[in-house]
Amino acid sequence: MSARLYADHATTTPLDARVRAAMLPFLGEEYGSPLALHARGRRLQEVVDAARSDVAALLGADPDEILFAGSATEANNLALKGTLLAEPPGALVLAAATEHISVLHPLRTMARAGMELRLLPVDSRGLLDPDLLRRELRRGAALVSVAHASAEIGTLQPIADLAGIARAAGVPLHCDATASAGLVAPGEAGHLPDLVTISPHLFGGPQGIAALRVARGHRLRPLVEGGTQEGGLSAGTRSMAGIAGFAAAAALTLSERAGRAAPAAALVAVLRRLVLDGIAGAVPTGHDARRLPGHLSLCLDGVEAEAALRELDDAGIEASSGSPCTTGAGKPSHVLEAIGIPPRLARGALTFMFGAGNGPGDPERIAAALAAAAMRLRALSPLGRPG
Ligand code: PMP
Repeated sequence: MSARLYADHATTTPLDARVRAAMLPFLGEEYGSPLALHARGRRLQEVVDAARSDVAALLGADPDEILFAGSATEANNLALKGTLLAEPPGALVLAAATEHISVLHPLRTMARAGMELRLLPVDSRGLLDPDLLRRELRRGAALVSVAHASAEIGTLQPIADLAGIARAAGVPLHCDATASAGLVAPGEAGHLPDLVTISPHLFGGPQGIAALRVARGHRLRPLVEGGTQEGGLSAGTRSMAGIAGFAAAAALTLSERAGRAAPAAALVAVLRRLVLDGIAGAVPTGHDARRLPGHLSLCLDGVEAEAALRELDDAGIEASSGSPCTTGAGKPSHVLEAIGIPPRLARGALTFMFGAGNGPGDPERIAAALAAAAMRLRALSPLGRPG
């Protein structure tokens, strides 16, 4: 059997061997807590401080603006609920309709507690119109949340424009840059959104660690209370291996990011052409140009995504459905709904993303396996032939 082909970099990425090497000492002889008052603890605190600088440098932020959290989900919750808990009840929050569930769910919880939530529509390619945000902000708001990119449809928002509009209106912007930070900077130093979420497992780093950039002066309440870690805003003993791995992945990404996009984009251009030319009823989703490099999302009419993923898996190919985080939920994706994809088509949503480890021949192998899967499944499926 031929080697497995990983095309699921939108869900998580393989750990870079150099990052693993940087983590290993902290799974061995470098044990201990950075809060401890002995020399070992002081040494670990220096590692945490250096990691904060590496993560800040990747974002173009200051080290004292970086809080470590346990996941991007946790960082998003802290950004949103933590900000709103510091506001009077009834505050208005705006968010793009395509936000990840780790943004939408905490906002819905806050809405049930009395906050006003307004979801902003996007166009059929997933873009939020900056003029719409400008108009919406005329009546003021406590917070805006717009992801830099959707892992599901790949669309990159004009985040610099949106951040400028929010800043001009005096409203803090939270940007979930989880899907994009390994490939595209979420803003330039001095023009970053006030709150930015990233996690290194999307750029060759470990899972179970993330960061929230909190602009100096931004008021935030803790969600997880306990010890004095992260100034009491994100309490708990963090994984030192995770923090060291985050630092290594951030430093590598800062120096290598510019060279990562072109090879991934070249591979995905081949895949896109082969799939769209070769498979009837394949409908691309998201924006054609303003998208994550290396990312292809599409809907296969007359095909159930989960069945297609099983067929691809049997052929050694690892991809995801449009919404890897909601697998098994049985509902059409709110992202596809927001860009106007009819429910029947949304059932066949697939996402492929190339990254480290992919190379020539991968697009051809995926396209051939997908064409065979589509043919087999359509012959069997009650959904039938493409409509
Ligand atoms: N936001 C976005 C845009 C994501 O793509 C993901 C993960 N796919 C998350 C948040 C959540 O990340 P985690 O599961 O690491 O908490």
